[in-house]
Parts: sequence; C-alpha cells; structure tokens
Amino acid sequence: MSPLPKLTRVINARGAFTPLGVSRSSPAVARAVARALREHLIISELEAEAESALVRLSGAEAATVVHCTAAAITLGIAATITGLSPERIAALPDTTGMKRQVVLPAGHAVDYGHSIVQAIRLAGASVVLPGAESGCDEAQLSAALEGPDVACLLLVSSRLARGRPLDMRAAVRAAHARGVPVVIDGAAQDFRLAELLATGADLVLVSAQKYLAGPTAGLVFGRRELVRAVGAQQHGVGRAMKPTKEALAGVIVAAAERGSLAVEEWRAEQVRRVERFVARVSGIQGLTAASVPDETGLPFPRGVVKLSGDGSAARAAWLAEQLRGGRPSIWVMDQQASLGRLGFELVPLRDDEITTIVQRLSQLMANHTTSSLA
Ligand SMILES: *Cc1c(COP(=O)(O)O)cnc(C)c1O
Repeated sequence: MSPLPKLTRVINARGAFTPLGVSRSSPAVARAVARALREHLIISELEAEAESALVRLSGAEAATVVHCTAAAITLGIAATITGLSPERIAALPDTTGMKRQVVLPAGHAVDYGHSIVQAIRLAGASVVLPGAESGCDEAQLSAALEGPDVACLLLVSSRLARGRPLDMRAAVRAAHARGVPVVIDGAAQDFRLAELLATGADLVLVSAQKYLAGPTAGLVFGRRELVRAVGAQQHGVGRAMKPTKEALAGVIVAAAERGSLAVEEWRAEQVRRVERFVARVSGIQGLTAASVPDETGLPFPRGVVKLSGDGSAARAAWLAEQLRGGRPSIWVMDQQASLGRLGFELVPLRDDEITTIVQRLSQLMANHTTSSLA
C-alpha cells in the first residue's frame, strides 16, 4: 500500500503508541471499516453484534463499545456514580448528592498523553491517591476505601504504572468487602483480558486499537448492570464519546480474528523474530542485544539493544534521534536511553522493515565510530 501523500514513512518499533497511529489492522478489519463508512445501518443492531462478539471473545457477562479507552475510563467511573438513574445521568458532571470519590493507588496515576486523573474528574468525580509512587500497601488502600463518599476503586494494569506491583485480586477483595465496585484500566492488555476479569473486577477496559489492532475504540467488559450503565451515558456526558459505526464494524472483525488466533504459536513466532533480530544486531560493532520478555506478561518479547562504555547514555539518545530523523523515520523505545539501552518492539513490523532497522543501525554505528576517531 502506498503511503498517504506528503506524510513521512514510519517504521514503528516503539510499540502501540498513539502518536504513531497505534497499530496496523488486518485487511479484513480494514474492509469492514470501509464498508460501514459506505452504508446506512441500524446502529443499535451493529452495537448488539459488537457486544456479542466481545462477550464471545472474553466470556465476560456483558460488554460494550465507546470511543476510546480514555472515554471508557470517564464513562466507567460515571456508571459507578449514576447507575442507571436517568436523572443522575442527565445531571453529570454535577455530582451533588452522589458518592463521587474515586480511589486510585498513587503509582497508578499514569499519564498516557494526559493524566488519568483528568479522565476521572471529567465524570464529575474527585480522586483520592493512597500510598506513594513507590507503592501502596493494603492498609493504605483499605483506609482510603473506608471513606463514606467512595464511588469506586480504579486500578491500572500497564507498563506505565509505577512502584511495587499491587496484588490486584487482594485489592478487589478489599473493595468488595466495603461494597465498592472496581474498574481496571487495561488499555494495552487485551491479551490478558481473561486474567484481568478473573481478579473479580466489575469492569475491565481495553483499547480496540492496541494489540487487538482494530479501529480506535474503548472496549468495556464486566458486570451486566454496570456495563448497561456505561452504555446509558450516551444520553449524558457520553454523547461526545460514542463509538463510530466504522469502529463498531471493525471491532466485530478484530474480535473474531483474536478469537481464532492460536496464541501459543503466535508467541513462539514472536520469540523467533526477536531472536533473529538480536542475533543480527549483536553482529554490529559497539552494540549488544538481548530478548527481554514483557514485564506485564504480554505474550511477546522485545529486542533490547545496549551500548557499552563511557557516554553510552548520550550515544543511545543520539542513535534514537538519528533513527527518527532518517527516512523512513524509525521510532524506538527510548525510555531507557539514559541507561544506554534502546527497545525495539517488532510485533507489527514486516521482515523488510526489520532489515531496514538493522541496516540503519549498522550504518549509524559505522559512521559514529569513524567520526569519533576523526
Ligand atoms: C493507551 C492507554 C490509554 C488510552 O487509550 P485510548 O484508547 O487511546 O484512549 C489509557 N490507559 C492506558 C494505561 C493506556 O496505555
């Protein structure tokens, strides 16, 4: 497929990253999206089809679709505040007389382009942040859950979360013991949906466009009544966060494709691809490489390329900048550049694109060595 006119060609080794268009959809997903754009259809029917496809995929009691995961956070919180009450739904974001406090462990106050705290406040809620960036223990969580005004507990399952990992099941039990519902933001964790649902959370939120590789949409899974209360927000603050018809159509196909994916074979293939990449990069003077598993348990490793010796941090940053500045523009995970490391996520890449990355790394290292000797 030819690139769009006048746009920079990108090779994205940075992961499911929103500023780079997140993911690549399959031809079947793209066809479903294109077809929906050309048709009139009964949206409630399309929604019902999408919901059954998601229930089949997840085994959750119920599911629905909203505009994106950020929207799902706002609307999931709104649902815990209003339930199915039409008066309350119409009143938001004014939450006068309603339980409106959301408990969010401090290390889970992530930023995915804006702070998740704002997505919560958009529903009219206020946020309590027990613990510290370094972690939140059970006593701190329980104390925060004791408040009379608590609407829900929000947990984030993501590489962005900081501090000692929280035992999600124990946190859910602590909330339920006080009659407080639990919402989990698992935006990029679609492969771990069953595990997140098994924590007992009332709602689990996932992006359709990250590893599921559908169009942009937020997928909401969980308890029937609460999922219905999320859908009901379409007649309230959720109007500006509704799913598009093309997203609903694409989600149906993306969910079916995931349902028929042999995940263990797929995982083995991802491991082999990263091992081949690591072997090729290790042959480049000045670089070593390793295959590193995903720390949240996603079923694929990443290639981590290391620069050694003095000035490795500066050279890693330089390398990332040169890769990005070249054509095609290659984007890598540079969050650990200060440790002299760059990460490469290969999941969406074609073999020819991986070859381009290896060649560019090789040229840049050769030039760098020559120029630093000069
Ligand atoms: C990507 C992400 C979001 C936002 O997802 P969108 O579907 O782009 O709105 C929310 N939370 C986390 C942890 C994310 O990684």
